[in-house]
Formats: sequence, C-alpha cells, structure tokens
Amino acid sequence: MDTTAPANLAPAPYRLRLPGPTAVPERVRQAIARPVLAHRGAEFRAILAETEALLRPLFGTRNRVMLFTSTGTGMMEAALLNVLAPGERLLVVVNGQFGERFAAIAKALGAEIDTIEVAWSEAVDPAEIAKRVSAQSYRAVVLVHNESSTGAVADLAAIGALLRDSPTLLVVDSVSGLGGIEVRQDEWGVDVLVSASQKALMCPPGVGLAAISDKAWRLVAREGGLSRFYWDFRKYREGIEKAELPFTAPVSLIQGLHEALRMIHDEGIPPVLARHRRLAEALRAGAAAIGLTSFARTVRLSSTVSVFNVPAGLDGGAIVRRLYEKHRTVIAGARNKLAGKVIRIGTMGDIHEGDVLTDLIHLEDVLSELGHRFERGAGIAAATAALQKR
Ligand code: PLP
Repeated sequence: MDTTAPANLAPAPYRLRLPGPTAVPERVRQAIARPVLAHRGAEFRAILAETEALLRPLFGTRNRVMLFTSTGTGMMEAALLNVLAPGERLLVVVNGQFGERFAAIAKALGAEIDTIEVAWSEAVDPAEIAKRVSAQSYRAVVLVHNESSTGAVADLAAIGALLRDSPTLLVVDSVSGLGGIEVRQDEWGVDVLVSASQKALMCPPGVGLAAISDKAWRLVAREGGLSRFYWDFRKYREGIEKAELPFTAPVSLIQGLHEALRMIHDEGIPPVLARHRRLAEALRAGAAAIGLTSFARTVRLSSTVSVFNVPAGLDGGAIVRRLYEKHRTVIAGARNKLAGKVIRIGTMGDIHEGDVLTDLIHLEDVLSELGHRFERGAGIAAATAALQKR
C-alpha cells in the first residue's frame, strides 16, 4: 500500500456534476468533520431531533421521518419489506432504470408483481394506473418519483388521489427528488416515501430516510408481514420518538445532514425548489442551443437531473470521458440500455448559476473537439438569456 499518496484525492478543479452523489458544501463538510458524538448522548440526541424536525416540511408530512444507515437502494428494499406479506401482489411502474430496480427488489422479496411498462422517455399516465387498480387488487403501487435515468417526473398528486380511499398503498422512491422537487407526502397521499442523503440533500452517501402514513403503519405493524430485523420500521419509529436510532447512528453524516437542512431552511424551501427549476431550465435551454435535446418527452421534466440525447455520430461515453480528462467535470452517462446514447447532469443540491454556465462552457469545448457542429457560444448565450428572464 502506498502510504505516501496525497491526502487530497480530489484536488481542484474537480467538478462533481453527477445526478448524485453531489458536491458537499463547505458548511456541511465542516459539520461532518466535528468530533464523533456518543450516539445516545445528549448532544447527538439534540441534533437528531432537530434534523428530523427539519426533514418533515421537506417531505410535507406531519409523521415522523426515520433515519437509517443506508443507501437509496436499501431504502427501496426496506419500503417493500415493511408493507408486504408473503404472496401479496404489487403493481410496479417501470419507466427507467430505477423502476426496473424496484421491480427486481420486489421479485427478490418474493412478491407477485405486475408492471406497467412505460416508454423510458415518459412518465406514467395516472389513467393507466387507475385502469390497472380497478381490474386487480394490489397491496401497493410502487414507483419512482424522479427517474434519474431519464429525467421524467411522476405526477404523485394525481396518482395519490387515485389510491387515497383504497386499501392499496402508494410507495415512492424520491431518492433524487426530495429537496429539489416538491413533495407533499400527506396532502398527495403518498404512503411510503423513501430518500437518501447524497442527492439534493447535499451530503455524502450513507443516510437513508423514510416517512410513512397511518395507512401504511397498519400494515407495518400487522401480524404475518415479511420477516425483517435491521430494516424493521417499528424499531426506527420507536427510536426516533426517543431521539435515537435503534443501532449505532452514522453520527458524523447526520451532523452533516443537520447542517445541510439548516442551509435549505435558511434559504427557504420554496426558493430552493425554484432555484433547482430555474437552473435546470437554463441548462436545458443552453443545451438545446448546441443541439443537445432533452431525452424525456414528458411535460414534467426533472429539476434535479437533466438527461440529453447524444447527437448522432457521437458516443456518450466519449463525452463523459473527455469532460473529465480535460476539465475534471464529472457527469454521468448511462449504465443501462441507454448507454452511449444519453448524458446526464445533476442540477441539484448546492448549485448555482455559475455551475450550469461552466457546464456549458465545458460541454461546448468537448463537443466541438469531438466533431459536433454548432455555433460556439450559443449554449452559454441561451442559458444566460434563460437566467435573465427571472
Ligand atoms: N433511486 C433513484 C431514483 C436513484 O437515482 C438512485 C441512485 O442514483 C437510487 C434509487 C439508488 O440509490 P443508491 O445508489 O444510493 O443505492
């Protein structure tokens, strides 16, 4: 092992512009670097209690928000594990890679599953869900709020309204939405909402989040549900009521999350959401002006991740690679059937006008180097014009 390697492995410039994990602001980094606290001591309890209180308005819930040591996928699994009983049937919406993952998790847990297969560039039509749930009874409709592989956003309000008075739950992954796209869990009737720390919440990966409705609690607490131990939501709710986690809490990450939430609340939730929307729109306007069209064709385009079609004759992987080699700008391609065909850029968390303009400067440079023809400067001009509109 080379113990002489430099400690700073991400020297500037290193522009983390992925759709997660996202760059962690200095205030949050400093909070994470504070001394490790006793996970059941008074200092940490105070931080945890405040963190949970600051999360509730982001979820749009009056219920408790539970915190876990987990990635987003762990939370997707935990969501299903807690509401299912053996042999129950789920309706899973698949319109991208994370919808596919939800279906795969449901299958691994032994659930009976039906899927609604939607074109990856689209969001599910609530009418299709209405049709399916009237023809067959389901324990839950399961879907991804903000499909990070495509940039399509589901209409949770409309879907929630369909299920509110039925025994069917609405289980939602908002791993890449929460904090950047509006969520009103209680008002919209989302029964289980899960998320994670490393996207719009501006923290490193490692903290999972979940809040659930009374309707869902009745299932979590029933006899005969799937067996679970670490993931049992009952333990986490009991824990949070005493301002602790059932197992050793990721104290440093939660200190970071606490600080990130203070930043969000200092700015104000509506302004934070508006900033995400405005920057995503500016990035899309700039990209369109240089021939990068949006992959998603739905009216509800994501404010947190922009997914662009790669122009004919170019390879998405080469664009991603060259942006990193030449500019240390780290964006994403695709790790699914869209590999090579799309590029994805995060517009979530601690990002500002200069970030999207720099993205466009680097994109223009690399696309032109790779032989794509467009008017140099047009992207930056279009994004600047979009930013000036509001
Ligand atoms: N769901 C969505 C919508 C995501 O974007 C991601 C990660 O990119 C995940 C789930 C999985 O999260 P993790 O990689 O933290 O397990």
